[in-house]
Amino acid sequence: MRRLLLTSSLLVALSTAYPVFSAPAQSPIAIAIHGGAGTIERAKFTPEQELAYRQTLQSAVEQGYAVLEKGGESLDAITTAIKVLENSPFFNAGKGAVYTYDGTHELDASIMDGRDRQAGAISGVTLIKNPIELARAVMEKSVHVMLSGEGAQEFAKREGVAFVNKDYFDTPHRYEAWQKARKKLEQAEQGIKDYQALHQQLPQQYKMGTVGAVALDKQGNLAAGTSTGGMTAKRFGRIGDSPIIGAGTFADNDSCAVSATGHGEYFIRYNIAADICARVQYQGKTVAQAGQDVIFGPMLEAGGTGGVIILDAEGNISMPFNTKGMYRASKSNTQPTYVGIFDDKK
Ligand code: ASP
Repeated sequence: MRRLLLTSSLLVALSTAYPVFSAPAQSPIAIAIHGGAGTIERAKFTPEQELAYRQTLQSAVEQGYAVLEKGGESLDAITTAIKVLENSPFFNAGKGAVYTYDGTHELDASIMDGRDRQAGAISGVTLIKNPIELARAVMEKSVHVMLSGEGAQEFAKREGVAFVNKDYFDTPHRYEAWQKARKKLEQAEQGIKDYQALHQQLPQQYKMGTVGAVALDKQGNLAAGTSTGGMTAKRFGRIGDSPIIGAGTFADNDSCAVSATGHGEYFIRYNIAADICARVQYQGKTVAQAGQDVIFGPMLEAGGTGGVIILDAEGNISMPFNTKGMYRASKSNTQPTYVGIFDDKK
């Protein structure tokens, strides 16, 4: 008895001298963004250009992260980050959108909430400053998932989403790419060559761009969003994967959040974003394994080029791409800001 009393008094004394706090486990928060994949090589950049891209990516990821840090929702974090990229002329979305064959701009975007798989998407809008805002309005304020063209813009007016003049989307570098692409594709009009064959000959860069974000908030909710101008010289109302839930965007708290960039037709045919999350959910793969398996598996084998950003509900991030480079950035409560453009492994 005496011994027991001694032991317990010793324990009390020790615990006072060395208080043990069991720190509440911090809920993970994380965000990853991309600004498009493609033939992005170091040699094509001046140091100043590279710095400018890096700074924009850093600013987007950090503004999105700040929302999460303050306890904000993942949907707000991705909307914030994507708007920074849409407002920059560097990326093929919003301000920097590519030209269609007819010299216009047709923008696509989508967003998904991992809590309940609510989703919103828009395609072929021509005068919306931030297409991601309109996609979000579709998700939150309409009974539909996807709206297109004039109808989507009519809805935007009712919801007070910001419009711009069509000249807002004019940028010299996209204009030059459009001129070159058109020259090539016009040969099809004159019956010299097959349109499909000519389109395949266009530089990879003309088929890519796009911005996107995935985030995890303190409440454990995932969200994903993607916004694009599509492909240079796209025609006949072509729509890529970016506004298609399951192809270019997907989020579900039970698996992961994905935003894609690359040759959209392949992402649609192979249902890439949903396939990655299905592998995480049903095969128990990590986001890194699932992303690798899909981007270097069925996607590449089919001839599809591009990449994805993936995030799970524990804050694990993976950003695989099978192209030369992908503009990307990430930040989490356990990882400082990372910004990448080229293939770091080479
Ligand atoms: N996936 C987009 C599209 O096909 C383009 C891109 O991501 O670069 O419209």
